[in-house]
Amino acid sequence: MTERIVVIGADAAGMSAAAQAKRIAGDAVEIVAFERGGQSSYSACGIPYWVAGDVDELERLIARSPDAHRRNGIDLRMRTEVTEIDLAAGRVTVHDLAAGRTYSEGFDSLVIATGAVPVRPPLPGADADGVFGVQTLDDGAALLADLDHAKPRRAVVVGGGYIGVEMAEAMVRHGLAVTVVDQSAQPMSTLDPDMAAAVHRAMEGIGIDVRTGTAVTGFETGADRRIRAVLTAGGPIPADVVVLGLGVRPNTALAREAGLPLGDHGGLRTNVQMQVLGHDQVWAGGDCTEVLNLVSGQHQHVPLGTHANKHGRVIGHNLAGSYATFPGVVGTAVSKVCHLEIARTGLRERDATRAGFGYVTVTVQSTTKAGYFPGTQQMTVKMIAERLTGRLLGVQIVGYEGSAKRIDTAATALWNRMTVEDMTALDLGYAPPFAPVWDPILVAARQAAAAVRRAGTGRLLSGPGGYRTRGPARPLCPGHEPPPKHGARATLRRTIRRWRR
Ligand SMILES: Cc1cc2nc3c(=O)[nH]c(=O)nc-3n(C[C@H](O)[C@H](O)[C@H](O)COP(=O)(O)OP(=O)(O)OC[C@H]3O[C@@H](n4cnc5c(N)ncnc54)[C@H](O)[C@@H]3O)c2cc1C
Repeated sequence: MTERIVVIGADAAGMSAAAQAKRIAGDAVEIVAFERGGQSSYSACGIPYWVAGDVDELERLIARSPDAHRRNGIDLRMRTEVTEIDLAAGRVTVHDLAAGRTYSEGFDSLVIATGAVPVRPPLPGADADGVFGVQTLDDGAALLADLDHAKPRRAVVVGGGYIGVEMAEAMVRHGLAVTVVDQSAQPMSTLDPDMAAAVHRAMEGIGIDVRTGTAVTGFETGADRRIRAVLTAGGPIPADVVVLGLGVRPNTALAREAGLPLGDHGGLRTNVQMQVLGHDQVWAGGDCTEVLNLVSGQHQHVPLGTHANKHGRVIGHNLAGSYATFPGVVGTAVSKVCHLEIARTGLRERDATRAGFGYVTVTVQSTTKAGYFPGTQQMTVKMIAERLTGRLLGVQIVGYEGSAKRIDTAATALWNRMTVEDMTALDLGYAPPFAPVWDPILVAARQAAAAVRRAGTGRLLSGPGGYRTRGPARPLCPGHEPPPKHGARATLRRTIRRWRR
């Protein structure tokens, strides 16, 4: 009997699931996918680079068009929104936005891949002309059209996360005077403050006015409803165009109304096969779900395309009767602002503290190539290791060309629960155009391993997060007790002498 699968959302997670299931199961599955927007399988990740001019046209950001999916046997219905899920009846209600028609479709299995909704400040003027989000290709097209027609001179980017930072660079490259406003104390709050400081300096270095600790209180518009200024507690910031990069939250209103279980961060909770907990016929993946952080052991909302694609592939396999799992994430992400590359994996100091780890940190300054090699540039690596066991907990990298993707070595080490001592022996590639003879990751691992050993003998001084200690010596690993102190040794010698007598 043919299994009927309904997919809600036709981007990374949804269409990866649909394509994978069709590839494996062929005619044994009938797949109907609904997408309320105008594009399928597109790269939102490419929007900042399209706006900046690195990518010349929208079509290049579309991995697979609706027609290409249809040719592969998937009944993809565009501009059609799912408005209700009836789990008991196994039906969805859909609204064809173009035809204005509402109808329902039945399913044996349902895939929820509705993505995320961008955070919009509920402030007066937030919907003014000249205020743009960058969630969809239509958003990117609208912003580019505005840059072309309105010829703004001053841009304000609200939010200093990775999307805000990438969009700030895009605005600089259009020749605009750019201000980034963020209510937190640093841009890139996915980094520790010491590493984010380098990003802050690099942004200022390319002329971006970075206003941290600054909350937006409203948007001032002219009589023509066009944005004039972003209002903050520190005064108005004149703006001809505003880009909102305030992050996203899981798009789970439909799922919640259907009674499906949500986690603390508002995302759908699934098992490792991406089956919604307690609902064997419902699968979910991508930005609408929460994932397990394998380092902290806690569930998180990590809205990244890399996870959405993997989720989709896992769902597709399982729907087709094959078997695949998504065990979790270690928190790896890369970004850049102009030539400065930014990377992170694992836990920041505050995450490690929250998760209950005692830890050591080291920060090393190194170079991207051999020190004598033309074009070698600076990079900084911060490494965090568990104080007791030396287990790697996290790495952050800020540096120039060739820095960011070194994070993958650290991500692999984290995935395999390696200690920093293990990492010191990694066989990493070396030739002068690519790395110093001691790769910066190896240098950081060596120093972190030394810090773990010192912490074990109590020779470090105390600091935030408890990563340096004056306290009694601790075992390096469970069951491995440190040698007794001098006084204890003397007592032991006296006891042995007494036995011998
Ligand atoms: C500007 C930007 C830059 C990014 N850069 C990166 C990056 O560098 N690296 C990275 O890993 N990630 C990046 N991301 C994140 C990445 O794009 C997302 O994680 C990924 O697109 C999530 O895929 P998804 O399928 O879960 O959701 P989405 O891509 O959001 O797709 C969900 C789809 O569901 C549709 N939908 C929602 N509700 C309904 C409904 N009721 N009925 C029908 N259709 C519905 C939506 O229209 C949408 O097309 C970036 C995102 C943005 C916005």
